[in-house]
Amino acid sequence: MIKLKLHWQILIAFVIAVLVGLIIPEYVSYVRWLGDLFLRALKMIIVPLVFTSIVSGVTNLGSTKNLGRLGMKTITYYISTSFMAILTGLVLVDLIKPGVGADLGFKMEVPELTKSTGSIGDIFLRMIPSNIFEALASADMLALIFFAILFGVFISRIDAKPQQVMTDFFNSAFEVMMKLTSFIILFAPIGIFGIVTGIVADQAADKTKLLLMIQHLGVYMITVLAGLGIHLFITLPLILKFVGRVNPYLHFRAMSLPLITAFSTSSSSATLPFTIQAVENECGVSNKTSSFVLPLGATINMDGTALYECVAAMFIAQAYGIELGFIQQMIVVITALLASIGAAGIPMAGLVMMSVVLTAVGLPLEGVGLILAVDRILDMCRTTVNVFSDSCGAVVIAKTEGESLKV
Ligand code: ASP
Repeated sequence: MIKLKLHWQILIAFVIAVLVGLIIPEYVSYVRWLGDLFLRALKMIIVPLVFTSIVSGVTNLGSTKNLGRLGMKTITYYISTSFMAILTGLVLVDLIKPGVGADLGFKMEVPELTKSTGSIGDIFLRMIPSNIFEALASADMLALIFFAILFGVFISRIDAKPQQVMTDFFNSAFEVMMKLTSFIILFAPIGIFGIVTGIVADQAADKTKLLLMIQHLGVYMITVLAGLGIHLFITLPLILKFVGRVNPYLHFRAMSLPLITAFSTSSSSATLPFTIQAVENECGVSNKTSSFVLPLGATINMDGTALYECVAAMFIAQAYGIELGFIQQMIVVITALLASIGAAGIPMAGLVMMSVVLTAVGLPLEGVGLILAVDRILDMCRTTVNVFSDSCGAVVIAKTEGESLKV
């Protein structure tokens, strides 16, 4: 029997899923659980994977000086690419003006989820957990990462013998988690089949949503997608080529599995196991770099989300006929960045964080209702960009650390 490569298996499962969702949506309930099962398995491994990965990553860096250097590079890369993404979005939304004159005279129910008002201060406050077990139990990634980095730093500050024990322990635990991850990834074609049939059937069933989408939100969608496209196919490849000296085409190829998973799951966190595997095995980035850069990236580096926050906020302002001046637009830029840092790597997290941006410039929170109908598809696309940017970060940083790569 010919053994198809995993990404081909996934691609085929994806295409069949779209067809099944469109042609026989009434039978989707028979396979939807496969997707739920797969997502549960991914969620199961996220917390131990991120925790062991960061602790072992930090302890293996050896000195706090190394950590400082790598940390600075990582944060600089993440913030600058997110900024570039936001500016791309801002230019497009100011040029295209998707909301101006749009007759958005319809009201939609805003689900409870999106009503939560967040403030910028909250994002920083949330970083320090008052109870680490609570943070672990609720998969609060910012808090988890903060604690894991501290834990790793202080492992390297204790006596040599216990330090060795702890380092060995976390390295071994991380290895176990990676093995377990590889095992779960084998089920990706079946899982993604279940997830995608569900999404397609839901969207196809909701004809009014589809109509609204085409009438009012089409241009908004195109603006976001154009921005994401520019960032994915122009900005990031240029960074790969000129900063990382890496062949963008080969990098895209190496990342095919994580990208299609990001698109199907709308979750950077759920995709993280795939990203780590691909960046290490296909691109040849050392475990030392990837185990620090990628988990951090999956949580704080969301270029696609940042771009989306900016375009969506501007669109809402335009649709309500509210003129935003230069200063206010700059506030949108900064809060979009913070919202993308604070957004969890889960579906719809970006939509929830919209409240931060809207509150900052005094736009009505109900505005979120306007963009709800098309959020699912935009979420899939922005997550793909989020994951791709993380992988570029890992490769670029590995290169600057003097690693020789396969791409
Ligand atoms: N779903 C996105 C992610 O996981 C976050 C968002 O909703 O923008 O990367």
